[in-house]
Amino acid sequence: MTHQDQARVSVRIMEKEYVVGCPYEERSALLDAAEFLNARMREIRDSGKVVGLDRIAVMTALNLAHEFLRVKDHESRIDSGVGGRVRALRELGGADESAAVVGPGAGPCCYSVGSEVHTALTGAPREGPIDLRAIVRGRLLAAGVGEVRDVEACTICDERFFSHRREGEHAGRQAGVAWLS
Ligand SMILES: [Zn+2]
Repeated sequence: MTHQDQARVSVRIMEKEYVVGCPYEERSALLDAAEFLNARMREIRDSGKVVGLDRIAVMTALNLAHEFLRVKDHESRIDSGVGGRVRALRELGGADESAAVVGPGAGPCCYSVGSEVHTALTGAPREGPIDLRAIVRGRLLAAGVGEVRDVEACTICDERFFSHRREGEHAGRQAGVAWLS
């Protein structure tokens, strides 16, 4: 990497300015991360329970570390879920030509998540809509599935489906059936 690829970015956290070096293409991700950190530190300061910049920083870091580990655990379960199921199918035979269908689920049109979930699933620290179908498609292809189709149905805005987001705790559950023929 040449020197020109490095950017020096000035970020403000808790009314203090810090100049941070980072690869040029990661500037906006760094600014997002700083804004997120600043918001979380202000939240802790405004709660009035923690006093002093260093204690606020440590409490914020502890909270973020806790969330990060929880999300990482969640992600590894998702990964082992997709990969494990593809492996199980292979063991049943038909290893050469496998195909998968991404069924109805929460679509990017309706489903927004926080930065910690985005970071874990997509690597991008942002908040907002997330495309779970695209993520599952990528993981299926990475697991060696030859063809992935998507029914492109969103359970939240398509009322043919149950949705916990739309209907709350009284929502029913979706089920799928597959068989060997
Ligand atoms: Zn939708």
